Amino acid sequence: MRKNVIAGNWKMNKLLGEAVDFVESTKNKIASAEKVEAVVCAPFPYLPTLVEKAKGTDLAIAAQNMHFEESGAFTGEVSPAMLKDLGVSYVVLGHSERREMFAETDETVNKKTHAAFKHGLIPIICVGETLEQREANETMSIVENQVKAALAGLTEEQVNQTIVAYEPIWAIGTGKTATSEQANEVCTHIRKVIAAEVSSTAADAVRIQYGGSVKPANVDELLSQSDIDGALVGGASLEAESFLQLVEAGA
Ligand code: 13P
Repeated sequence: MRKNVIAGNWKMNKLLGEAVDFVESTKNKIASAEKVEAVVCAPFPYLPTLVEKAKGTDLAIAAQNMHFEESGAFTGEVSPAMLKDLGVSYVVLGHSERREMFAETDETVNKKTHAAFKHGLIPIICVGETLEQREANETMSIVENQVKAALAGLTEEQVNQTIVAYEPIWAIGTGKTATSEQANEVCTHIRKVIAAEVSSTAADAVRIQYGGSVKPANVDELLSQSDIDGALVGGASLEAESFLQLVEAGA
């Protein structure tokens, strides 16, 4: 039985005080980590403070991106070694906003995925199609190629620990959620691709989240689907109360 992962992706939101208030007010109300993994993906400058505040609780702290190199002349970048050193446990890789606006490619996502495992970080790898691609019936092939590229060269053991987030770009921040059937269809396909590329063990173990306008009102329906093991949530993760409701739904 796969455990749900409910991750709030704050994106570029909140000031430090707001971030701290959120963690202080949620950390002791989070459902047990034995039932659900609750994760907050925070902006880089807040990571050390939030990791410290969440220590010893069931709330995990994640980064929203990183570089694939360990150190070096990469002005403005943050390395996997730095994140690990801070006590960060997950990292979001290949979010569509980074692919669209910051030149993230399948190749860099793959390098970052390898780097994450090298440093003991769990990658949350985002994949998903644009509206144009969906209308051209390309959803399955686009997502399949993104998944294959991201996971290339990983061991079965690493794939077992990987989290894939299926986020159709047309459903992000638009209020348009994919229907639970649409979402599940793609998540089932992702699992099939992993079974063919890696193994059926890996396909059974990998967690696949859905992301795109998830909120307390639609999360139960999404999580009831056979191949959806959690949610990556933007807007609805910014309020402590609604984040707690989402985590509860995943427990
Ligand atoms: P929204 O939940 O705001 O649609 O954002 C989804 C997302 O991009 C999470 O990574």
